Amino acid sequence: MVDAKKGVVSGKNLEHIKKSLLERKKELEDQLADLYQMKGVMGEVQDAGDQAQSLSLETLKISLQDNEMAEYNMIGQALRMIEDGTYGMCIECGQPIAERRLKSYPNATRCLICQEGIEDGRREG
Ligand SMILES: [Zn+2]
Repeated sequence: MVDAKKGVVSGKNLEHIKKSLLERKKELEDQLADLYQMKGVMGEVQDAGDQAQSLSLETLKISLQDNEMAEYNMIGQALRMIEDGTYGMCIECGQPIAERRLKSYPNATRCLICQEGIEDGRREG
């Protein structure tokens, strides 16, 4: 049963989801802080001879950082939606996201149909 005023996810589950989102957010903050520190150290010790190797390491770190930043941003958005009382609604079509999906992916802001649509579009484009 969906109560528009209470949102899609019931209060107890919402608290649980919020807690796990906040924990994950903290983890990512720590990891991102480590990455920024490593990058700083590498910049200092790097010399011309190591450049080729450093370059691929840098690339790896940047892509890792991108993934984590993307997840971090999604968590931030999910937390804002919890505050707004819109959490659990798809940002694309406005339909409730299945609670089962939210339990597996607490930072999901799209329903499965919209998410798959976006992923299909990416593959084709
Ligand atoms: Zn949707």
